[in-house]
Amino acid sequence: MTPTVLVVEDEYKLRQLLRSYLEREGMVVYSTGSGAEAVEIGTRSPVDLVVLDLGLPDLPGEDVLRELRNVCDTPVIVLTAKSEERDRIAGLELGADDYMTKPFSPRELVLRAKAVLRRGRAVPSAATASYGHGELVIDEEKRRVSVRGADIELTPTEWGLLVALARVPGRVYSRYELINLVRGYEFDGYERTVNSHVKNLRRKIEAEPGNPRLVETVLGGGYRLGVERDR
Ligand code: CA
Repeated sequence: MTPTVLVVEDEYKLRQLLRSYLEREGMVVYSTGSGAEAVEIGTRSPVDLVVLDLGLPDLPGEDVLRELRNVCDTPVIVLTAKSEERDRIAGLELGADDYMTKPFSPRELVLRAKAVLRRGRAVPSAATASYGHGELVIDEEKRRVSVRGADIELTPTEWGLLVALARVPGRVYSRYELINLVRGYEFDGYERTVNSHVKNLRRKIEAEPGNPRLVETVLGGGYRLGVERDR
């Protein structure tokens, strides 16, 4: 499965840079500049790795780390502007798995991220996942989707939406979360954008697009995959 990474960094340029480096490695990246939002995403979504800047404007990174550690044991790489030994040790004592002192090379971060993911508890699973008794089959490695036995072509955004929803079938993803996962940016009108991509996706994968069963709308919430993953 594609590893999912949450990047928490309030410097916009660095956040986008890290995102593009990690995405180039095939990772799915959530990103935010807010500590509170990081806690929100990190405690609700199954991510495989968190890259966490300790110097955040709204909440100290140390608090974010503590909050995350209360609910999950996702590996965390801490980014710090502080180079003193005691600060590094403090970060590691809080439960970080690795740390990088700014400025650092994004390439180095990618290497560390891969190493942490390798030794993390990421369970190897089949590249192909099937849902709804074989109705929907997603092969992430080959980037292929088939519905009721027929291969279908998806745009990158439709692919991203479907893979995001299929990560945890039945879980409701808000439109904001989906656009953040898929496109990695926030902008006005994101709801309408997600809605129109979902509409296109449904046209391709639903037996009856007007009565969707695979990608369900949750009133006031967002979307979810309406079928279970097959075992
Ligand atoms: Ca910062």
